Amino acid sequence: MPADVLMIGAGGIGAPAAWALAEAGIRRLRVADEDVVELGNLHRQILFDDDDLGRPKLEALEAALGARGMHVVGTRSLALPDNVRQLLAGASVVIDATDNFASRFMLADAAHLEGVPIVHAAAVRWQATVLAVSPTGRPCYRCLFEDLPPPGQVVVDCASAGVAGPVCGVAGAIAADRVLRVLGGDDSAFGHIVTFDGRRDRLRSVALMPRADCDLCGITANIGSIEASRYMGEPDCAAP
Ligand SMILES: [Zn+2]
Repeated sequence: MPADVLMIGAGGIGAPAAWALAEAGIRRLRVADEDVVELGNLHRQILFDDDDLGRPKLEALEAALGARGMHVVGTRSLALPDNVRQLLAGASVVIDATDNFASRFMLADAAHLEGVPIVHAAAVRWQATVLAVSPTGRPCYRCLFEDLPPPGQVVVDCASAGVAGPVCGVAGAIAADRVLRVLGGDDSAFGHIVTFDGRRDRLRSVALMPRADCDLCGITANIGSIEASRYMGEPDCAAP
């Protein structure tokens, strides 16, 4: 049976990740996104051009990847608390290419509850970060970031901080590499934080230690469902 690869977000990280997967021979990709192509994002959304401005990203992605032999099965919606588990259920691997902490935490929780592997990819300013979490869900995204910042706390977002387009490309390429390794059964893909610093030419991979008191995967884990109130956070950084 062909792999069921699901990508949440078709922006600055999703576009290069999907392109790399298409060139690697992945022939089908499920994608969830509800945005349209905008001029200010074209520098990092490398599958789109001026002719796509105003088009739904899914439509533009379908055309661009179709020309590269990949069939896109689109869901024109955000991943939301009431649909996220259904969206993720049964996926071979999920790519978190979203643009905010709330979505990342929700996807991390949903992937854990559904027992599917997930690759979180993010970029802000000159920094790219990628973490692949195994189907056992340990160590997980919450082992690293614990929880959303409290409402009102200042966080770095793409509007104020911006993001370098090539750094998004690196994040997307590393995410695609992790997806291919997961599909190939390479367990060494999991449990390492990979960071790329575009100003210092520094690529690092650091093993992530599970936290015993992690709310999602620890001994006293207490997240057993997706509750919308848990994800009322602030925007963080740039993926789209
Ligand atoms: Zn954890």
